[in-house]
Amino acid sequence: MLTDDGAVLIDTLLYPEETMRIRRYVEEGLSSRVNYVIITHFHADHSTGACFFPGAQVIAHKRCREILDQRGRESLRQLKEAAAEFEPVELVLPNITFEREMTLEIGATKFHLRESPGHSPDSITCLLEEEEVLFAADTVMPIPYFVDGSFSDFVGSLTRLLEVEYENIVQGHGDIILRGEAPEKIKSDLEYLRKVNEAVKSALEKGLEDLDNQISLAACGKSHVLLNGVVEQLHQHNIRALVKQYRDETPGSPAGQASDEVERSYTWHQKKLI
Ligand SMILES: [Zn+2]
Repeated sequence: MLTDDGAVLIDTLLYPEETMRIRRYVEEGLSSRVNYVIITHFHADHSTGACFFPGAQVIAHKRCREILDQRGRESLRQLKEAAAEFEPVELVLPNITFEREMTLEIGATKFHLRESPGHSPDSITCLLEEEEVLFAADTVMPIPYFVDGSFSDFVGSLTRLLEVEYENIVQGHGDIILRGEAPEKIKSDLEYLRKVNEAVKSALEKGLEDLDNQISLAACGKSHVLLNGVVEQLHQHNIRALVKQYRDETPGSPAGQASDEVERSYTWHQKKLI
């Protein structure tokens, strides 16, 4: 977003070359510079490139700063070990943080930042009121993905999005949602959450095992073709996370086994960086 006070970048990308391409576009194509970087959550595909904007103010939720300071250091070490192209990346901790909401006035543009937990505990959304555009980050993507966050928080955050006025949604992954389609998309995501939760609860009550192969994406109202087919895996990991949650809530249940599943799921998630 170009303002009278330079460019505001909402999230960086994972690979240094991708982020540098944005920087070159802003500096050479728009004759501006990125003075502000808003990080919507700690996941590497949204936060890794902050170091390529030296001098910029970096803004995020307070939890994002805490998580980057802890888990982020280890994740970066693993990325550097995995591929040489991450060598120039340095951890940058956000220097402006907030908890519930914050309005930033940059030049003549107002950015309303609001906590939006569910996909991750530190997720935020960014609303440009005048432009009527909501940068929803991973709170809105082809299917809600809560393995690294919380199912019930996600329901709350999506429900709140129904009360906000905007025309278009920029999703964290997937196409821009255009005027008129936004309420339906959010209702469909809430419906997915309701259906997957109901299906997991009733399967557990019946004592069924291996649920991620039994509860189909279609039965939860979503198409498997979204996001190049990756949604099928995201859906399975959501199921495992819910199973773990319910087993953890039930005394004497095999929670350890479920935890292993989520641990494997997290490793996968780190690799795919959603
Ligand atoms: Zn994410």
